[in-house]
Amino acid sequence: MERIKGKVNNLKIEKRAFINGSFVKSVSGKIIRKESPVDGRNISGVCACSAEDINKAVAAAKRTFESKVWRDKHPDEKKEVLFELALLMEKNREKLAMLDTIETGRAFRNYYYDSIPKAIQALRYFTESLDKYYDYAIPPRVDTLATITREPLGVVGIITPWNDPLVVSTWKFAPALLMGNSVVIKPAEQSSFSILEVAKLAKKAGIPDGVFNVVPGYGEIAGKELALHRDVAGIFFTGSSETGKLILQYAGQSNMKKVGLECGGKSPFIISKNCKNVKKAADVLAKNIFYNQGQICSAPSRVIVHNDLKARLIDYLKSESIKYIPDDPFDVNSEVGCVVSKEQQDKIENYIKQGIKSGATLMTPTPNNWFSAKKRTAVLPSIFTDVKLESSIVKEEIFGPVLVVIGFDTIKEAIDIANNSKYGLAASIWTSDLNEAYHVSRELRAGIVHINSYGDDDNTAPFGGIKESGIGKDKSIFAFDEYSSLKTTWINFDNI
Ligand code: NAD
Repeated sequence: MERIKGKVNNLKIEKRAFINGSFVKSVSGKIIRKESPVDGRNISGVCACSAEDINKAVAAAKRTFESKVWRDKHPDEKKEVLFELALLMEKNREKLAMLDTIETGRAFRNYYYDSIPKAIQALRYFTESLDKYYDYAIPPRVDTLATITREPLGVVGIITPWNDPLVVSTWKFAPALLMGNSVVIKPAEQSSFSILEVAKLAKKAGIPDGVFNVVPGYGEIAGKELALHRDVAGIFFTGSSETGKLILQYAGQSNMKKVGLECGGKSPFIISKNCKNVKKAADVLAKNIFYNQGQICSAPSRVIVHNDLKARLIDYLKSESIKYIPDDPFDVNSEVGCVVSKEQQDKIENYIKQGIKSGATLMTPTPNNWFSAKKRTAVLPSIFTDVKLESSIVKEEIFGPVLVVIGFDTIKEAIDIANNSKYGLAASIWTSDLNEAYHVSRELRAGIVHINSYGDDDNTAPFGGIKESGIGKDKSIFAFDEYSSLKTTWINFDNI
């Protein structure tokens, strides 16, 4: 632990934008001012890009796209470069994990053992898939043939959130680059350090100048400019549903660019009367709602449990939640660190106050000494019972370690409660009755459904929601379709 802390104090952090292969200050000279959620230290200084910087980055990306320097590289060459980038990220795993921890407060352990390896695996998965993925031709005819090919979009804009900075970025930039696009990435203002470090590695790996650009800055300025830019052919966003809706408007106001959105959730976790393993369900539920202080888009924040099992479930949850009391993010044994900022902490605490005011009963574990000291931004795992279905804690995405427990008597009632949400990201049904599992999973309105599990995930399966949780998918070979458009080419053999 001391070794990591010592290294953090001496970290060299790149804070300038990466445009056309070089690190540059923003034209205005403006910077983002902020404190680390870990210890309140001043970590200001990342460039706050504005219209001029975005124009420069998009122009560089457009130029390199049109020059075909990357787009027309043989797949083998693209693979070589991106495999090299994966290797460099692996070699720099500790630094990347430290950068993300100091900025976001998530436990170093999570980044080092889970998140950064996941980003590297995703990059390798997409890179390996590139030459196993075919275009199409129509069924043969005597004198004509049509091919259906995936064409790169051109300049692709990518806007990311702070809760898992490198995983979310890689899910987008890897398939975008492999399809031949040039990218301009706008990271969240809370988490720009690690992707700027990756930009350095991308250049070292051999990605040509101008193909990979990073423009940190505020969402309403840098993000908006990127999404409105007429030379950006596709904008791929992960973040809140409110901002996602703005991105759709920007696309409509400008050039009708292609849009991909991965947005918020309020995912249901149904425990049927036929669930034989309530303890296991409680363990899995607690892990998925309290991990990373609940700052996971697909976290199951509503448990819908049969009334006969409710009391048992609550007992299990209460004892299980103790494992997720936040602790020092740089202690290598900590599973849970901070929430990202004081602002986010206030937002979560405000929801908790609203829950109490609505008449719901709150249970939190007894805090340890570190937590009581309140030196860092963090929230205790919070479980609400006796909730009103119309209250804000039941309906809105809190993006914190807050779980609501809702009872039901019939499975039809459970499905109705689960689907009564504007979101549709993930969902889960726990039952030992296979027939019930199948039918409920078909009824659940969500992009991802888990049966007797939660959070199962790998690069081969698409990730994304429906309704206000988003449009399009990250991950899997289907992601290549997001970053390309289909072109039909008719060939006539008679008229040659
Ligand atoms: P956010 O919407 O506030 O910000 C996300 C990104 O959008 C940031 O880079 C921000 O700077 C930018 N942005 C903000 N306003 C903008 C504007 N007007 N125009 C263009 N860009 C703008 O979200 P957040 O608080 O950073 O992240 C948390 C949210 O992300 C939660 O709702 C969570 O569910 C969601 N999320 C979804 C997924 C998923 O895969 N579905 C994954 C992670 C996070």
